[in-house]
Amino acid sequence: MRPGIIEKVTNELRVTPNWQDSVQARAAFSWNNEASALAGLPDGGLNLTFEAVDRHARGPQPDRVALRLLDRAGQASDISYRDLSLQTNRFAHLLRGLGVSAGERLFVLCERSLELYLGVLGGLKQGCVVSPLFSAFGPEPIATRMRLGDGSILVTSEALYRRKVAGIRSGLPSLRHVLLFGVPEGEPMPEGTLDLHALLAEADDSFTMAATTADSPSLLHFTSGTTGTPKGALHVHGAAVTHYVTGKYALDLHPDDIYWCSADPGWVTGTSYGILAPLMLGVTSIVDCAEFDAERWYQILERQRVSVWYTAPTAIRMLMKAGTALAAAHRFPALRFVASVGEPLNAEAVWWGLEALGQPIHDNWWQTETGGIMVANTAGMAIKPGSMGKPLPGVEAAIVSIENGQLTLQGDDQVGELALKKPWPALFRAYLGQEERYRRCFAGEWYLSGDLARRDRDGYYWFVGRNDDVIKSAGHLIGPFEVESVLMELPAVAEAAVIGKPDPLVGETVKAFVSLKGGYIASPVLHDELLGHARKRLGAAVAPKELEFVASLPHTRSGKLMRRLLKARELGLPEGDLSTLENPS
Ligand code: ATP
Ligand code: MG
Repeated sequence: MRPGIIEKVTNELRVTPNWQDSVQARAAFSWNNEASALAGLPDGGLNLTFEAVDRHARGPQPDRVALRLLDRAGQASDISYRDLSLQTNRFAHLLRGLGVSAGERLFVLCERSLELYLGVLGGLKQGCVVSPLFSAFGPEPIATRMRLGDGSILVTSEALYRRKVAGIRSGLPSLRHVLLFGVPEGEPMPEGTLDLHALLAEADDSFTMAATTADSPSLLHFTSGTTGTPKGALHVHGAAVTHYVTGKYALDLHPDDIYWCSADPGWVTGTSYGILAPLMLGVTSIVDCAEFDAERWYQILERQRVSVWYTAPTAIRMLMKAGTALAAAHRFPALRFVASVGEPLNAEAVWWGLEALGQPIHDNWWQTETGGIMVANTAGMAIKPGSMGKPLPGVEAAIVSIENGQLTLQGDDQVGELALKKPWPALFRAYLGQEERYRRCFAGEWYLSGDLARRDRDGYYWFVGRNDDVIKSAGHLIGPFEVESVLMELPAVAEAAVIGKPDPLVGETVKAFVSLKGGYIASPVLHDELLGHARKRLGAAVAPKELEFVASLPHTRSGKLMRRLLKARELGLPEGDLSTLENPS
């Protein structure tokens, strides 16, 4: 049996952690103090890109590498903070030249290339509301989001435009300008598009920032659609303070770090922590243009000397599935901090990190709506594998229950909804077009996350499940994560997902879907072994009654298990919005 805690030995840590948790340190924390590290704009203004890029370009080390872009062959090209400042100035100028005004919605549909960063950061400079779209979306999800967001400018590549946008363009009447790159030499620009690089080359590289303030809208992010139709969460420039603080305390970024966030900027993690937070801290970010490949990822960690890595449970599970031999063929002496977000991180995965990468994995929790990390296992803190960690400084979390509109705070070890006290700088300001739904997220001074969790006596938070996924069986509240984690303890299991099936006697019974690691074959013996293990560890009331082997489980494109789809299929119900489903079949 593994111990329930991984202690940190301070003198074995390579750098002193930025956050040393204590009652005094928490009491001393203030958002205003932290905000004083930022530069601000004249007249009390604030702009995300100015803080992320220009502040450093004007500082003592403008030639520091901001982005290291890796092409498919793994070749690196570096962009310094100075370059990024000048190039985003050009981009913002270009927008101004086209008559694009502050508040207009700019969509970015790009693979992970420099243009994506110029579009997002340059758009923010001109005061646009920027919405990065995941490049693997098909035409329909693109159209739905652009219509909802009233997109008037689109930055995209010729290939993506041809495949995904040209056919829906007539249904996007608000779309005024398409800025295109990657048109093959000698070919004409498609009708109704502008040549991004030609316009950039002509544009001035000095720029007077749009007069944005902390309350000006900045980013429009669509949620993952794990529980239903994706919602458009609107954020503000003031989020800069959360990005800065969480980059510093939750990801422990230090000036010399080589940092890699492997999430795509089409999801909030890839924007808040793939673009903005690392730049706020002035570190070098790796940007890999290719998709997941276990060998490639190990090579990136090794060859690029990544020191801080932010990834997701699905990626970790895929690496685990690829086997220990592959990891053992690499060395990661530079790696000093690994974090994960997006889904519950099974204790097994935390331990795997320690064995395969030499570092335990630090789970943290947040949502599109919160704009930044809220609960985290930080570098200076002991990890309890399976826990999401503690609220970050500046974050007041609670476990609450709501009955008849009345909110009650729950005590330690009680399961309830995870709530966060408002406000904090990156809290979202609207669900676009869904005012009532936005209002329902709040009860008095609390933001209600829709996730169930519990807090232990040491103040660590444990994820139980989403409100929608929790199973109620014979008076028990069963969190799918707990059951899935127990199944994952067995070496044969690559991934497990658990749902509740209506049952006239007990309300719901637990059914598990399991995919196996390479080299294991589904058999009645293995089936019984898994159920037996679950019963032994969880008791008959919580263990699955049914278990089905499947080749793979449905995920969102941001890597989350779509339990609602398994359930709909199991019960023969409508499948709902599948716009974010990975590999639809
Ligand atoms: P939708 O709201 O459209 O259903 P979504 O909630 O999956 O999609 P995101 O905002 O991308 O969209 O994801 C946030 C959710 O992801 C959280 O509410 C939580 O359920 C889950 N999550 C994130 N981090 C963790 C974590 N460390 N442990 C457990 N769950 C997590
Ligand atoms: Mg959600």
